Amino acid sequence: MSHRPIYLDCHATTPVDERVLEAMLPYFTEHFGNPSSISHAYGWEAEAAVKQARQILADAIHATPEEIVFTSGATEANNLAIKGIAEAYFSKGRHIITVQTEHNAVLDPCQYLQSLGFEVTFLPVQQDGLIDLAQLEKTICPDTILVSVMAANNEIGVLQPLAEIGAICRQHQVLFHTDAAQAIAKIPLDVQAMNINLMSLTAHKVYGPKGIGALYVRRRNPRVQLSPQLHGGGHERGMRSGTLYTPQIVGFAKAVELGLETMESESKRLTQLRKRLWRQLSQLEGIHLNGHPTQRLSGNLNISVEGVDGSALLLGLQPVVAVSSGAACSSVKTAPSHVLMALGHSEKLAYTSIRFGIGRFNTTEEIDRVAAHAIATIESLRQSQAVSAKSSQMK
Ligand SMILES: *Cc1c(COP(=O)(O)O)cnc(C)c1O
Repeated sequence: MSHRPIYLDCHATTPVDERVLEAMLPYFTEHFGNPSSISHAYGWEAEAAVKQARQILADAIHATPEEIVFTSGATEANNLAIKGIAEAYFSKGRHIITVQTEHNAVLDPCQYLQSLGFEVTFLPVQQDGLIDLAQLEKTICPDTILVSVMAANNEIGVLQPLAEIGAICRQHQVLFHTDAAQAIAKIPLDVQAMNINLMSLTAHKVYGPKGIGALYVRRRNPRVQLSPQLHGGGHERGMRSGTLYTPQIVGFAKAVELGLETMESESKRLTQLRKRLWRQLSQLEGIHLNGHPTQRLSGNLNISVEGVDGSALLLGLQPVVAVSSGAACSSVKTAPSHVLMALGHSEKLAYTSIRFGIGRFNTTEEIDRVAAHAIATIESLRQSQAVSAKSSQMK
């Protein structure tokens, strides 16, 4: 498949690892039972598989299996967490704190709650993409019920200081939710040490299948109340009804298990690849790194390029490398990335950003090919722009 571009868009999604697919396959045809069927072996087999998966996922974040609620992905988990908390705690308070650089699956539910009369603070970030902890603490008021801050940003890869945020939330007795869609099995996550009360997860960013995720909901110290957003058969202790999707759940757990096994070595390898790419690209003038230089996902490189047209740049890169500008989910819109705007970028620089998401199956050779092609593309775009500027001057 050498004719296809090199895939460097791992924050949008990742391919399913062959070992994950293999683990899933028997649960489509052979062990197809409904995990809720308690009266026969078909149900028991499926139930056993779900139980094992739940344990693996719980262990991955230092939770207990009862605290894992399966959802269709992180979008649903975020919706369940934010709207579910708002509904369950509105008599206690109506103020929610989140951050301007969150994924739309957090921002949009918060905006929806605003329309219902909740008050939402969208904290700004510093130039490096990190929140200001003192500002967070000052923003918490007696009416605050929830703080939602993502673990790892999907555009610039920045890792927020979860343990510090958790400590502040605990001290002020405010619930802490984190969207860890980009973080699971990539960085250590510990809901105990980090005082996290709710955590959104998804499988398809860590070489698992699309359409499956989970919400961690704390059961002790404190026991989190959550209003369900899907009512029905009372699955997942009433928090999320719907027949459990056994193959996807098995695949999700396998993906996380594989990710954890090699997390440290893979993180080192990806950091090297990212640095290699940056070393080459930054030899050009007018290239800016977006986000904190080290406190970021190892496979994330996000740059802004001066002096080129953003869409021309993407078009030029397309034959060789699959990357995106900003987030995949909002790339249908023509607005500049809200994340880069929050970093204080001019609209122009926000438009000419490229997100490289390096992953498990990328090689050094690929990185070098991408770097060479990106440099050639940028240079030629700059040259033709200079030529057309000159010719219009002469007219
Ligand atoms: C991908 C992503 C989501 C959405 O997850 P789905 O499982 O695709 O719904 C939410 N938040 C972040 C940070 C993401 O990267």
